[in-house]
Amino acid sequence: KQKLDIIKENIKAFEDFPKPGIIFRDIFSVLADPSLFKLLHEVLLSHVKEIQPPVEYICGVDSRGFIFGSILAVFLRVPFIPIRKKGKLPGPVDSITYELEYGQDTLEIQTNIIKEGGRVLIVDDLLATGGTLWAAAMLISNLKAEVVECLTIIELLDLKGRNKIPFPVYSLIQF
Ligand code: 5GP
Repeated sequence: KQKLDIIKENIKAFEDFPKPGIIFRDIFSVLADPSLFKLLHEVLLSHVKEIQPPVEYICGVDSRGFIFGSILAVFLRVPFIPIRKKGKLPGPVDSITYELEYGQDTLEIQTNIIKEGGRVLIVDDLLATGGTLWAAAMLISNLKAEVVECLTIIELLDLKGRNKIPFPVYSLIQF
């Protein structure tokens, strides 16, 4: 728990970014300090190693989910699969469109990149309204794979995003 307090204290908050009224939590302020990044990685890895039976795939969500998801995938020796914003992935893709505060966005995954029944961990940096992780989880379950957990570093509790997601949600740090 103490490790998490140190990390939490070092997540910078920016008021009115990207829009007025929003407090942006900047996880990159932790990554800029190698010892803090290492600490964060250790906490994430020890959590993920305890998941039983082990996960078979890690899906990172565009784009900060790539950073944390990919290092975990190397350590667990499982495939890393990107879930990307529309139009970034080559070849056949499955898509899902989801609602944002203002408007919509679309996420994509390469078709058949995960085997049926595969045990998948989805990783992103932050859970806000839950729209993004909900869409990512739907892409995985549409491939008939199993969403074992949605993992984020930060969760914004007021927004109750986890209530939107019909799968286990785990966050390290809450604001
Ligand atoms: P949601 O879909 O849960 O409302 O928003 C989560 C997505 O928006 C995540 O992909 C996350 O990276 C991004 N996001 C929303 N608010 C913040 C924030 O305060 N800080 C950071 N780093 N990302 C945010």
